[in-house]
Order: sequence, then C-alpha cells, then structure tokens
Amino acid sequence: MQSTDKHNLNYRLERGHGIILPDADVGLDVSANVAKHIFVSHAHADHLPRDRYMHVYATPPTARLMQLRGFRGDVTELEFGKPVEFDYCRVTLWPAGHILGSAMIEVETEAGRILYTGDYKTPPSLVTEGFTCPDATDFFITESTFPLPIYKWKPHDELFAEMRAFATEALDEGYTPVFLGYNLGKAQEIMHGLAPLGLPVQIHGAGYELCKVYEEFGFPLGNWDKYDRATAQDGRILITPSSALESPMLRNIRRKRVAYVSGWATHESRRVQLTVDKLFPLSDHIDFFELLELCKKLNPRKVYITHTPNPRVVQHYLSEAGIASQPLEIEGYEDD
Ligand SMILES: [Zn+2]
Repeated sequence: MQSTDKHNLNYRLERGHGIILPDADVGLDVSANVAKHIFVSHAHADHLPRDRYMHVYATPPTARLMQLRGFRGDVTELEFGKPVEFDYCRVTLWPAGHILGSAMIEVETEAGRILYTGDYKTPPSLVTEGFTCPDATDFFITESTFPLPIYKWKPHDELFAEMRAFATEALDEGYTPVFLGYNLGKAQEIMHGLAPLGLPVQIHGAGYELCKVYEEFGFPLGNWDKYDRATAQDGRILITPSSALESPMLRNIRRKRVAYVSGWATHESRRVQLTVDKLFPLSDHIDFFELLELCKKLNPRKVYITHTPNPRVVQHYLSEAGIASQPLEIEGYEDD
C-alpha cells in the first residue's frame, strides 16, 4: 500500500452515501457492497446500507437496531475498543455518544491513522455508551451538521429541567404535553430526561420496538408504553416524530401543548413554521465549538468535513488554528 502524498487521504466517495478507503479495502457507512470490509457507524437511515443483504461490521446495539429497520445481511459484532485486524489495516470502534450503539471508526494503515465519526456528540447523550476518542489522528473525517457559531448547546441538565417544567405545567392546566422528537435517539433522550417525573409516557408506534432495544442494552427509559388512543389524554405525556404533526393521531388531541426537540430548534422561526408552542434545542450532534476544540486536540494532518451545509465557516476557524481541512460532499440529512 502506498500513499502518494502524506498530507492527503486516499479516499473515494460512494454513490448514494459513504466513503471508501481503497488502500485499506474498507467502506465506511457505504450503501452497497463496494469494499471487502464494510463498517456501519450507527442505525440512522442515512448511514445504513441500502443493500439489505451484505456483510458488515457494527456494534451489538447497532446490529439489533439495523435488524429492526429491515437489514437482513450478516453483521459481525464488534465491541468498542477491541480492534479487528485485516491484511492492510486494523480497525477499532470508539463510542460516539450520538445514539445507542453509535461508533466512530478508526482505521490504522501504513499511511497513517484515520478517524471517521459518523455522527457524534461531546458531551454524549445520556442514553448512549458515552464518548471516547483516540488522543490523536492523522486524518479526521468529521460530520458537521451544525457548522455555525450560533450552535452552542445548553447543558443537558438545564434543557431537561425546562422540559420537565413544560410537561408538568401543561398537565396541571389540563393539556396533553406532546414532544416532537426523532424516534431513534431523540425520543429516548426525551424519555430519559422526563423519567424523574415518574409520569406515564406514550410513544409513537414507530419508536416502540426501538425503545425496547435501549432497555435491553441497559438504558431504562422510565414509565412508558405504546401510544393508545383510548388512554392518550389521561394525564400522559406523548412523544412522536415531527412528521406526525398533521396526523389524525395529534388532531384527535384537542387540548395539547406541543414542543419541538431538535438542534434545529435553535431557530425561533421553527416555532412558527411547525406551529408549536415551545422549542427545545437538544441535539444529538456535536456543536460548533466542541467540533473546533476536538479538531485542535486531535491535531490531524487534515480534517475532512462531511454532512454539512456550511463547510466554509468550519474551514475558516480551522485554518486560523493552523489545521488544513477540506469538505466532502455526502448526501443525506436523515436525523437531527
Ligand atoms: Zn445519526
């Protein structure tokens, strides 16, 4: 294996989504069988293979979640921090703190160490295995979903206290509190944050089996059950994806207060666009400042920026810190 330029990573982008490292014969979140060894970082749809029958490597929770989402191929399960050796590289998974089972993928080759993040969060969501990364890397491939200085997350404690107050106030005044959150990752973070109230929670059917996997892997989510129209309004909290906003499910609840929970809730305009009562900017992605700090700590030869609407801002701040960077165009903004 050889690298023509030690300051540049030899990579290919796959059609659809994902990255191929040809020297190592490794595919990262690729959608088809395009490399000998294929790794899936986590179970959000924009990172899963579209070919449902290929062979991949993933953590045990990701394997379970992938199966629930229709994957029928073989998964070799890898624990965090236990490397697997191939002819041209060694690969280690690191906990990414994004959703249950989410992993960053480190590929060690003769040309250097490559760290690919998938999606990640520092500090991590409290219903994940945490966040741990290597001390340094040669090439850092990072998502940057929120690449502007307006994205600076509040501490979890503060957001969860506000969410609990929103729920109890609504219930006290005879309204059903409804939290809009993506059904894999966000819904479970909301449930964890509300659990100290001890109040019954109902979750949209699409999230029900996913919640069971969280509990299977040791993350209890409180007092919850599947949405049931007959009992939904009896002093229960409802959690559902924002796609259900115009559904009969929500229309049937006349007296409700609706909160939107997402990194995109940073924008006050979302409250009007979605016609919701409250915004909670709780994200399962890294914020702008955490991203810059991590890049400085890892001090790679080059940062490759993916999943981003605005790479130029990140590039600007990284070059001020003396770090070279380059955007990679990868399609897909499934989760928030
Ligand atoms: Zn994700």
